[in-house]
Amino acid sequence: MDCIFCKIANGEVPGEFLYRDAKVFAVKDINPQAPIHYLVMPIEHIPSVADLAPERLPIVAELMRVANHLAEKEGISKRGYRLVINCRREGGQAVPHLHMHLLGGRALLGKLG
Ligand code: AMP
Ligand code: ZN
Repeated sequence: MDCIFCKIANGEVPGEFLYRDAKVFAVKDINPQAPIHYLVMPIEHIPSVADLAPERLPIVAELMRVANHLAEKEGISKRGYRLVINCRREGGQAVPHLHMHLLGGRALLGKLG
């Protein structure tokens, strides 16, 4: 499948894994918008949150668990951070493989959108 995040997950494209388990992995965003900008995503190719069947929703909790863990590890947990999931075209999703952005390390005071 021609998906950049699947290719990173399966090693076809090299990536530095910040976290990896049987279901979820995390990498640095190549175009960081904050001092900490990580992408946390399922290994399985799920195009977007809108494509999640109700019984697969627990994967989103897994993404949040890993994002919280990485925020703690990077020392930004107390100061705060932002978790974002863009969905499809008008939601600003550029890569159609479900992923959660973890942003932090500076004040993110902008309004949404
Ligand atoms: P979204 O707009 O929510 O789909 O976010 C896609 C994100 O993926 C953007 O912030 C990109 O900078 C990032 N990105 C695209 N290609 C790569 C890559 N090969 N490795 C890491 N991050 C990437
Ligand atoms: Zn994919």
